[in-house]
Amino acid sequence: MEKIKEINTDYLIVGSGIAGLFTALNLSRLGKVIVITKKDLSESNTSLAQGGIAAVSAEGDSWESHFEDTIRAGAGLCNKKAVEIMVREGPGRINELMKMGVSFDYKGDQLDLTREGGHSRKRILHARGDRIGVEIIEVLSEKIAVSGNIEVHENTFLLELLKSNYKDEDRVCGVLARTGNLFRAYIARAVILASGGCSMIYSNTTNSRAITGDGIAAAYRAGADIMDMEFEQFHPTALYNPPEPFFLISESVRGEGGILLNKKGKRFMPDYHPMAELAPRDIVARAIYNEARKDSRPYVWLDVRKHEVSFLKKRFPLIYSTLKEKGIDMAKDLIPVAPAAHYLMGGIRTDLYGRSSVKGLYACGEAACTGVHGANRLASNSLLEGLVFSGRIPLRILAEEKDVRFPMDRLDIELPEFVTAFQAYNTLSFDEDRQEFREKMTERAGIEREAGGLISVLDWLEKNRGICGKREKLSDEGYELMNMMTVGELTVRASLLREESRGCHYRKDFSESSADWENKHIVLNKNSGSEVIVL
Ligand SMILES: Cc1cc2nc3c(=O)[nH]c(=O)nc-3n(C[C@H](O)[C@H](O)[C@H](O)COP(=O)(O)OP(=O)(O)OC[C@H]3O[C@@H](n4cnc5c(N)ncnc54)[C@H](O)[C@@H]3O)c2cc1C
Repeated sequence: MEKIKEINTDYLIVGSGIAGLFTALNLSRLGKVIVITKKDLSESNTSLAQGGIAAVSAEGDSWESHFEDTIRAGAGLCNKKAVEIMVREGPGRINELMKMGVSFDYKGDQLDLTREGGHSRKRILHARGDRIGVEIIEVLSEKIAVSGNIEVHENTFLLELLKSNYKDEDRVCGVLARTGNLFRAYIARAVILASGGCSMIYSNTTNSRAITGDGIAAAYRAGADIMDMEFEQFHPTALYNPPEPFFLISESVRGEGGILLNKKGKRFMPDYHPMAELAPRDIVARAIYNEARKDSRPYVWLDVRKHEVSFLKKRFPLIYSTLKEKGIDMAKDLIPVAPAAHYLMGGIRTDLYGRSSVKGLYACGEAACTGVHGANRLASNSLLEGLVFSGRIPLRILAEEKDVRFPMDRLDIELPEFVTAFQAYNTLSFDEDRQEFREKMTERAGIEREAGGLISVLDWLEKNRGICGKREKLSDEGYELMNMMTVGELTVRASLLREESRGCHYRKDFSESSADWENKHIVLNKNSGSEVIVL
């Protein structure tokens, strides 16, 4: 194999969603930044975001109210310090976005705010109707293009984190990545994983195909702490239209008065929660799951027929046109919806400045876990989290990594043996194994779990551990499956350990929350096993 190409930079970021791009812009003031991303720059969950971003801006609203709503949704598990930082710093970060050119929707001269599930008032800013993600990514990308200090390497797949013994300290010093057939060792003072969550481990998901938990799996292999993996949020309302991917019908459709009906046409959410359709997501998702089961079919109806076509077209242009293409007219027809895996609350454990448990390694956005979302994320808090905590990373890097000199003065660093063993990859197809694994996760480690089902997934993983073959020979698809199986195993292990139900984690065999588990987080580490901690 040709020599692996070495590339030196000050800071290496993996991922081009809101977290990766915002970190890149902030870090570019401190040095040279390279962003690597798996597909093209715009491929991410951020680009798919529809509903909006939550932040206090209306008169009469307060950070205390946003704080309380977030804590309530998090079901006794939020890291309160992280929540306070997010809701207090959020409005300032949104102002930064506006100054960069992000254009939110206005009604007259006021921001046009909407309300979503779990929020006690209207505080969701939206853009281009229901295309906030595209608006943010386009603006951040334009800024990056003219920044002069940031390179973006597209179609470049993170394989492994590289470690060194710099000054006798075990630390991350870069990443091994691959662009087509070309292997590259990026050497950097600090690596920031902004590679998103892992909802592709489920067969019914709203996520981009790129979101297979690669960063979390690589961090685990490098010895980082991984926390709260049992908490996967299922979005209640994705369009049920198999075999196509689950297209999201944003929460704001319910925010604008959409109601849920069972087979008989009866509105059922008021029987489940006083906030009815705007109850926290786990409650709405499980209610839909139950009602659909009672009706012996895989979906319920979402009804927004009270609105005029003109309103729906203006307020939900993407949803309206996508449904129309599929033969559904929102103004006249009921929409078949079912829950789908949507967001990972857990991930790489970080402090409040994005620092992981391994020196030189940082994480932000959905890949990271500060504990800010607890057991259940409040709607539209994830873009906000990505923004706020990625904005804090440069502060810690400035304090801790700016004097690290190895990348610059050792251009010819010796790569570890496992890296040099990487070879041109084989072209095996993993489609069937991938599908089987994802279906198992959905059936047995999804909205409802119990010990027997979870153990059977672990057995399957154990039996099939070898299916991917040697990692040195894996194609990107093979690597994805290996990573999905790793994060799937972490999800199942944490779900088995937590013998209670809380937020998005529902155990049929332990259907109540237990005071013993309040405020307790499960941390998994390759070297030290599992630990239960209080933040
Ligand atoms: C359909 C949908 C709608 C949503 N709507 C909202 C909303 O309205 N409001 C809200 O707050 N949240 C919403 N969310 C959640 C929110 O979009 C995400 O949590 C957030 O965008 C995550 O941002 P991120 O930067 O952490 O990761 P992402 O935006 O997911 O970006 C991850 C990046 O990492 C790259 N990557 C992954 N693996 C590798 C690898 N091996 N090598 C190189 N690169 C890699 C990916 O290609 C991608 O560029 C929505 C999510 C979905 C799926």
